[in-house]
Amino acid sequence: MVPVYNEAANLAPLIERLKPVLDAQVASWEIVCVDDGSRDGTLAALRALHARDGRINAISFSRNFGKEVAIAAGLDHADGNVVVIMDADLQHPPEVIPAFLAKWREGFLNVYGQRTDRAGEGRLKRNFAKAFYRLFASFGETELPEGAGDFRLLDRRVVEALRALPERARFSKGLYAWVGFPATGVPFEVGERAHGESKFRFRKLFSFAFDGLSSFSTVPLKIATWLGVLIAIVATLTGLYFMVRTLLFGTDLPGFPSLIVSIMFFSGIQLISLGLIGEYVGRIFAEVKRRPLYLVGERVGFAKHDSVHPRGDALPPLIR
Ligand code: UDP
Ligand code: MG
Repeated sequence: MVPVYNEAANLAPLIERLKPVLDAQVASWEIVCVDDGSRDGTLAALRALHARDGRINAISFSRNFGKEVAIAAGLDHADGNVVVIMDADLQHPPEVIPAFLAKWREGFLNVYGQRTDRAGEGRLKRNFAKAFYRLFASFGETELPEGAGDFRLLDRRVVEALRALPERARFSKGLYAWVGFPATGVPFEVGERAHGESKFRFRKLFSFAFDGLSSFSTVPLKIATWLGVLIAIVATLTGLYFMVRTLLFGTDLPGFPSLIVSIMFFSGIQLISLGLIGEYVGRIFAEVKRRPLYLVGERVGFAKHDSVHPRGDALPPLIR
């Protein structure tokens, strides 16, 4: 399954490269593309591809819901015994899929591609990613394997486990790790983006990172608490010191700057802690609203579902 957002130019080359690999590896396959509200003719390209080969199916969101949600929808609609998730921009080379399948046949249910280098990604992004993984590891109740991303093979059992997770805030990288199952990595080299540019601007990456941390850890909240405790202790000690000093040596009126500085410092800390709590409350709010995860505007293909669905149940609803 492939999440696609404004990738019209990449789709045909991707399918060209995927087909021979899949034909050589498995008896039957389908490609599920999730058009994440593209505005560049991606949907038309998908329709054309489906018209030429019925094994290429697509769903199209009513608007852009983000890659994480697109992946969730793809997993809802892909019904193979094995599902491979990959990007549309040819950064995930299809030629690695045989290696995934080999691992799967060895008994691994969750086979992830492991980036050997991040050369194509720019220094800022690379360092940011590194810092994030270090932070996640130290906060973590869940361990993320290094260099593992969304390029991976999932056994049906893993797919069903992921589909059963109800949360709206979907940090897939964490969820893959959270569900467990025997997992292993296959190293691969990230290719150059074929056409277009990355959809992840720095700001988006930052909020993505905080989403990841906050949905897998409450450590940021604990940090606020401990910071508060620490500062309270320091304040008490300082208070005692001044009391003793005043008793022994009397008052000296100056001290105005330190007063201002400490007031500002503490109100800063309080606002940060409040904001942090607010972030979590906001996320709780988003979860309890139980808005649908995505809205499907159109389905392209999935003809076989009209007869007998392999999983025996109905086509997934247009809303989830
Ligand atoms: N993508 C998506 N929805 C979005 C942003 C990206 O489905 O809102 C898809 C995109 O089409 C591509 C994949 O996610 O197939 C990875 O995106 P991109 O290559 O822009 O990210 P990068 O490789 O720079 O991390
Ligand atoms: Mg990319």
